[in-house]
Amino acid sequence: MSTQDLFREDAQLRECEATLLRADEHGLLLDRTVFYPQGGGQAGDAGMLTLPGGRELLIADTRKGEGGEILHLPAPDQDLSGLDAGTPVTARIDWSRRHAHMRFHTATHLLCALVPHPVDGCSITAGYARLDFHMTDPLDKDALTAGIARLVAEAHPVGHRWISDEELEANPTLVRSMSVQPPRGTGRVRLLAIDGVDLQPCGGTHVANTAEIGAVVVTKIEKKSAKTRRVVLGFATVDTSASSPASASVTSA
Ligand SMILES: [Zn+2]
Repeated sequence: MSTQDLFREDAQLRECEATLLRADEHGLLLDRTVFYPQGGGQAGDAGMLTLPGGRELLIADTRKGEGGEILHLPAPDQDLSGLDAGTPVTARIDWSRRHAHMRFHTATHLLCALVPHPVDGCSITAGYARLDFHMTDPLDKDALTAGIARLVAEAHPVGHRWISDEELEANPTLVRSMSVQPPRGTGRVRLLAIDGVDLQPCGGTHVANTAEIGAVVVTKIEKKSAKTRRVVLGFATVDTSASSPASASVTSA
């Protein structure tokens, strides 16, 4: 049974009421959720489920299951007794972690607009984001940081809409304007549009306006291979709740 994915329509939702459908070794399945499951390069959400009587269950991560299921993975050492199907729960995400994902994720769209080359790979966490571009030309760290800062300051609205495969076929110009080619054959595609900046198919969570991204800087540019340039982003101020990879140093303000 697929889970109703409330974050897909409203990424700003922090909590929702839901019903527990199943609890097993694969995780906790709810009928609906605000928890984003790891995918499209974006890390899964963490947070808490509150059970009747106020008992709280820590959720460490969220993954996709079979057939559109979204599985909430309990943190180690959580008491998983008495989790019967039909139990009402309040599902609440760790908002500071998710908002960091949303800020970085939207910033990667700005990078796509600044670096017009195909994307090879992408990873978005609360502490950093990295994007691999298929290209051979060198990239300038300071110029990219300035480009992102300009697009953030310009405060472009960010929104999404769904488009059918038929509409896509009927609008070849639309497809040509996208920085990433849309997948075909699924019936419909979710398009993420940053007004005047970027348009591409994307199922992740984003902020509502580029101004909400705040101060993001390019911390590192790496030549991953002869034909891949990796760009690493960090927040310009240290977020003590965020983890940072050994390969990226987050600049303190
Ligand atoms: Zn996106």
